[in-house]
Amino acid sequence: MTAHTPDPPLALLAELTHRCPLACPYCANPLELERASAELDPATWLRVLDEAAALGVLQVHFSGGEPCARRDLVELVARAAQNGLYSNLITSGVTLDAAGLARLTEAGLDHLQLSFQDSEHASADRIGGYRGGHRRKIEVAALVRAAGLPLTANFVVHRQNLERLPDMLALGEQIGASRIEIAHVQYYGWGLVNRAALMPTRAQLEAANAEVERARAALHGRITIDYVVPDYYAARPKACMGGWGRRIMNITPSGHALPCHAAETLPGLHFPFVTTTSLAAIWREDPCFARFRGTGWMPEPCASCDRREIDWGGCRCQAFALLGDAAATDPACALSPDHGVMAEAVAEAGGEGPDFVYRRIGAAAIA
Ligand code: SF4
Ligand code: SF4
Repeated sequence: MTAHTPDPPLALLAELTHRCPLACPYCANPLELERASAELDPATWLRVLDEAAALGVLQVHFSGGEPCARRDLVELVARAAQNGLYSNLITSGVTLDAAGLARLTEAGLDHLQLSFQDSEHASADRIGGYRGGHRRKIEVAALVRAAGLPLTANFVVHRQNLERLPDMLALGEQIGASRIEIAHVQYYGWGLVNRAALMPTRAQLEAANAEVERARAALHGRITIDYVVPDYYAARPKACMGGWGRRIMNITPSGHALPCHAAETLPGLHFPFVTTTSLAAIWREDPCFARFRGTGWMPEPCASCDRREIDWGGCRCQAFALLGDAAATDPACALSPDHGVMAEAVAEAGGEGPDFVYRRIGAAAIA
C-alpha cells in the first residue's frame, strides 16, 4: 500500500432497506428514513457485491431496517457466496420462517445475528413497538439452530432493561447462541432523541460491567461475549467503525456510500452513490472518505496524543451531534476541552424519563 492507497475495507455493511416491522427507539437508522421507492434495484446490489469482492472486502453484513423485507435477499446471499464473501444476516427475525431460513442456508448464508430488545416478553415487545415479537424471536432462534447456522444473540441495553442483564445472558445461552453481544445504546440519531429515557445510571453501568465479567468467566470456551460500553461513562472514546474510511464501507438503501451509518448527518460532505461511482473509486479516491481518514485532519489534543492511531480521535458524528463540529475531538474523551457535555447528559440519567419516540417515518420531526 502507498500513502495514497488505503487498504481495502474489511467489511461491507449493506443496508438493504429501512423498512422494518419494529420501531426501536434507539435504532441506528437515520432520523430521515428512506422509503421503499428509493431503494436500489436487485441488479445494482448484485454489482455492488461483485465490486466489493474485487476490491478485497472479506465480509458482507446484510442489514437494514429489516433485510428480510427485500425479496431479492436470497439472490444477494447467493451472489455473496459465489464471490467468496462471508455473509452475515442482521435481523429482527420476526418475519423469518423455516422455509425462508432453508433458502438462505442453501444460498450460502454463513451466520445470523438476531436482535433482542429484552429478556422479558412484555418489556421486549414494548421497546420494539411490536406485539408478539419476542415470542417469535425465540421460535426463530430454534429454527436457526436447526438449520445449522451459527447464531449471535444481540441485546441492546439501556436504563429500562439493564436490570435484566443476567436473564438476557441466560437467554442467549438457552437459545444456543455461540456469541452474545451486549451493546449499550449508542446515542446518535434515534438514540440521541431518546437519550433521557434510555441513559443508564452509573450504578447500573457498574453492575452490568461486573455481570459481563462474571458471565465471561462462567461461559469461557463455550460462548463469546462481546460488550459495547456507552461512551458517556468512558474516559476515552471508541475507535468508531475502526477509524473513518479504514475498515468498513456502509451502503444505504438508496445507494449512498458512507464511512459509517450516521455520516449523512455531517454537513458539507456530499457522499457518492454506488449507482454512479464504483466501490473502488469511492474507497480510494472520494474526498469524503479521505476527509477524516488517518491522523492528518486531527486537532489538538488528538494530533499529539499517543492514542491517535488506536481510537482515531473517536466518533465524528458524535462530535458534530454534541458540539456542532465534526472535526473536533470526540467529547467522550476526557482530554477533550468539551468533555463536560457528557457529564450533563449523565446527569439526566434516572427515573422513568419521557415516553419513547419510536422509530417511524416522520416521528423525529414531531419529537
Ligand atoms: S433497531 Fe429495531 S427498528 Fe431499527 S432496524 Fe433493528 S429491529 Fe428495526
Ligand atoms: S485526545 Fe484524541 S486521540 Fe487522544 S485519547 Fe482523546 S480522542 Fe483519542
